[in-house]
This record gives sequence, C-alpha cells and structure tokens, in this order.
Amino acid sequence: MKREIRTVLVVNSGSSSLKYQLFDMKTETRLAKGLVERIGAGGPANHAEALKEVVKALAAKPDAIGHRILHGGEVFRDSALMTKANFAKAKKLVKFGPLHMPANLGGVEACEKIFPGVPNVGVFDTAFHIATMPDCAGMYAIDPKFYRKYGIRKYGFHGTSHKFVTQAAAKFLKKPLAKVNLVTCHLGNGSSLAAIKQGGVVDTTMGLTPLAGLVMGTRCGDIDAAAVLSIMESEKKTPAEMDTLLNKQSGLQALSGVKGGDCRDICAKAAKGDKGAELALEMLAYRVALYIGAYNTVIGGADAIVMTGGIGENSSEVRARIINRLGALGIKLDRKVNDKTRGVTAVISAKGSKIPVVVLPTNEELMIARDTVRVLRG
Ligand code: ADP
Repeated sequence: MKREIRTVLVVNSGSSSLKYQLFDMKTETRLAKGLVERIGAGGPANHAEALKEVVKALAAKPDAIGHRILHGGEVFRDSALMTKANFAKAKKLVKFGPLHMPANLGGVEACEKIFPGVPNVGVFDTAFHIATMPDCAGMYAIDPKFYRKYGIRKYGFHGTSHKFVTQAAAKFLKKPLAKVNLVTCHLGNGSSLAAIKQGGVVDTTMGLTPLAGLVMGTRCGDIDAAAVLSIMESEKKTPAEMDTLLNKQSGLQALSGVKGGDCRDICAKAAKGDKGAELALEMLAYRVALYIGAYNTVIGGADAIVMTGGIGENSSEVRARIINRLGALGIKLDRKVNDKTRGVTAVISAKGSKIPVVVLPTNEELMIARDTVRVLRG
C-alpha cells in the first residue's frame, strides 16, 4: 500500500544558499518558507548543516521531498524518484551545469542523511522541453558527432515554470491540456519563451545552456557565434573569461549601465530619457515579439500568449512594449487592464484581440511539489 503524501518539502539547493518551502498537498497551501544563506562562507559548513536549520524551522518530518535540479540531459524526460541508479545518472550530467549541479545533487544527498526514509524526487528544469521537442528545433546544424560525443544540443530551461503556466492556462481557457496551443513567456532575470503545441514543448529559446535566446538581465541571448570568436581573438580572452562576459556582463545591464540589469531601474532610467536604457527595453521587447511571431507559426496558431516571471507578471511597461509590436497577429492591448495588472491572473488584451494575452503568476515550487506527489503515486 502506498502511504499518503500530505506534506512535501521543496528544496532549491544552490552553491551558497538553500531555499525551501513546505506544502500541504491536500489544500496546496504553503506551510513554511525559508532561506539559509552563506553556506560554506561563514554560515553553515555544507548543505547537510544548512538542512539542520531547516529541520529546526519545521514542525514535523515531511512526507516527501522535491528537488529543483538544473539539468536532466536527455536521460530525464520527466521528474524522477532519486533512487541510487537515478542519482548516478544525474551525477553524469554535472558537466552540463558545473556550478549548479553539484549543489543540487548535494541537496539530495543531504536530505537522505537528515530525513532518512523520506523519498526524494528530482524535478529537472530541462525535462518539460526535452520530453517533446522535435529534432528540427532541438539540434544544432553542426557535425552530429558533437552531439554524439558531448551531447551538444538544445535542452531549454525554466521547464518547471513553463509547465506550471501551461497547465494553469489550459485550465483558465477551459481547454484540455492535450489540445492547448500556447506561447509561454517567462520573463525575469533570466528569460525564455516556449512554443507549446497540444500541451507539450515544440521549441524554446534557451539552448545547451541558459545563455541563448532573449536579451536577459546580464546575458546577451542570441548572438552570432563568430562575434564571440572575434572578441576572444581581439581581446585574447580565455573561454572562461568569455563565458563571464556573455553571462554576467552583457544583456540589459551592458546596454543600460544598470548593474544587475534590474528591469525596474531600467524602466526608471528610460523614463528620464536615457538612450541606453531605452535601447535595452526596445531590444528586450523586440526579441520577445520576434519569437512570439515565430512560435505562433510553429504551433499552428496560439490559443493564448501567456506572460509570467518577475517582469511578465509585474511590468506593464515591458508588456505594453511587447504587445504593441504584435499588431500583425491581430493582437491588441487593453491598456487600462494592463496598467493595473500586477502579480495576478488577468487577460490584458482588448476584447477584439485575435489572440488573448494572459498574465499568469508562475509557481515553480508548487509545480515541484505536485510532480513529487505524482511521481510517488506512480
Ligand atoms: P528570477 O529570474 O531571478 O527568478 P524574477 O522572475 O523574480 O527573477 O524577475 C526579476 C525581474 O523582474 C527583475 O528584472 C525585476 O526588475 C522585475 N520586476 C519585478 N517587479 C517588477 C515591476 N513591478 N516592474 C518592473 N519589473 C519588475
């Protein structure tokens, strides 16, 4: 007999911090939430020590634990129970996320130690994409030997968020999940779009790593690979230095001069007439609109465009800049509704809009908790 899973602890174990949320799965309400910081740097010595602080904060042992894991490669096409065998498979994927994967998997090991007997489920940020993405979208046009030798292909990220809003949008639109076509836009510090056909991903903007696609807080997104080589050659940069430049010193931050590329600050700067900040916002909006047009085509017409993430949920300005570029699709903005929509579910397109645009707050932690229960129930 399967035991009942009433409470699920969701763990997001990073290299220097550990975030957690505890859910009551009967009501899907959050019972506790917390953050342990400075792991290995003056705070707890390691993830197991960090978890001891979590134990103190919780009233009882959870029934199950769900872990956010960055990369599932092609092995994990769905969330999975972290058995010994699955853990070993996940360990082989560390090369795809040398910064995040050791911390993610360290969180699993620590939970096994601190909560003996409680099952651990891995929820991979790539799985929702890799499950259904066809090769024509997922492969790169280079010699296939690099795919075979090193697994070089598109994987996509933010899968948990895209999955959550896909399910929420289907419900909102009163359509069966297997019939819903969407363009889901997760716009935050890191941003990605997904093309959803019949409830599954057929394309997404991030690639082998989260560097590809949209203009992000500090990441450049799409760029001619030859431009990267050219800079490396001119400035005598190593691959590691170039990685830092493209991931941490580019994007909205580089264009606007706003450290960290925080969208609120960039909007404020642009409102004062700053040209760099204005260009940053226009490039962000342009590229999102460009991909919405493309993805609307590949899914054969969207039932809705979904906006989520810190920017998608909150920034009426960025949303307006995007939607005002979608006239060719017959999409029209309801400016009044858009202006007042912040962090809540709402249709922000006008009545006559050919495709509705829906703001839907994401909840990756709840998605992880739901998947944990689903996997354990089999
Ligand atoms: P992460 O990708 O780190 O999870 P979030 O999804 O929280 O990030 O998104 C962070 C981004 O959302 C920041 O650029 C922030 O400026 C932006 N944001 C949050 N609230 C607002 C707002 N009210 N107006 C504009 N941008 C906002």
